[in-house]
Amino acid sequence: LLGYIGIDTIIEQMRKKTMKTGFDFNIMVVGNSGLGKSTLVNTLFKSQVSRRSAGWARDDKIPKTVEIKAVSHVLEEGGVKMKLTVVDTPGFGDLINNDNCWDPISKYINEQYEKFLKEEVNITRKKRIPDTRVHCCIYFISPTGHSLRSLDIEFMKRLSHSVNIIPIIAKSDTMTIEERLEFKQRVRKELEMAGIEFYPQKEFDEDMEDKSDNDKIREAIPFAVVGSDKEYQVNGKRVLGRKTAWGIVEVENPNHCEFALLRDFLIRSHLQDLKEVTHNIHYETYRAKRLNENGG
Ligand code: GDP
Ligand code: MG
Repeated sequence: LLGYIGIDTIIEQMRKKTMKTGFDFNIMVVGNSGLGKSTLVNTLFKSQVSRRSAGWARDDKIPKTVEIKAVSHVLEEGGVKMKLTVVDTPGFGDLINNDNCWDPISKYINEQYEKFLKEEVNITRKKRIPDTRVHCCIYFISPTGHSLRSLDIEFMKRLSHSVNIIPIIAKSDTMTIEERLEFKQRVRKELEMAGIEFYPQKEFDEDMEDKSDNDKIREAIPFAVVGSDKEYQVNGKRVLGRKTAWGIVEVENPNHCEFALLRDFLIRSHLQDLKEVTHNIHYETYRAKRLNENGG
């Protein structure tokens, strides 16, 4: 091949590196208890990734503070290792008085940026800094069919400048198709009116192709999802689903809910971008602020 330099081998070189080192991916789930956060995480990764924390039952007394738990697992597929950390935030907004209930969550997010920053400015810098920064925050909206609560708006507004927020409608099997459509539209309108920039943010579309791909996603948000970690037999195939008196809600069937859309978006098309936006935008904002505080 005359004149071939071999620039295109970079892809293979990157593949080899990634195979060797693996990568970190950190998801945070936020929402009232009982909205199916733990179940959805298990559905996403089809294993017991986020076990119910010991001793925590729905009718237990709700603790006064938001207790944040990060659980890590190494998952492997096709020889690629991903260290997945799920940050569970039980009981967000469960209290009568929810003033400042986003504080512990915001604090956790910033602490991870701080950790990364400390490692970066170390004289003996690690070859690879462990990344615990939250790459996306899945916000669970209650399937009320009415409006967003002011708490929902307040949380997303405050946090959208420090983390990638992906709003979803929880337990959407509890609404009819029409209710679901209407609710999705209403939520989108309310998010827009409140000026909430969820992920993927318009301002970070890099070109027309990006814009058209992301426009489709933005029009589908908030994804109306159903979660389950139980398998059933449907037409000779084993599927994840919820068995009801009327039939089985198939979690991965796009005619039943938008779980598959969320999964494909989160893992198959935008995982790398979530990491890049976290590093280049959210972390950068934090870093600039911190270095300014210290007089540059
Ligand atoms: P968390 O407190 O937000 O972590 O909620 P869990 O994942 O523990 O789920 C609480 C309850 O809701 C459990 O009984 C789940 O089986 C149920 N659940 C979870 N996801 C769904 C869903 O998509 N639809 C319905 N109808 N129930 C769900
Ligand atoms: Mg839970």
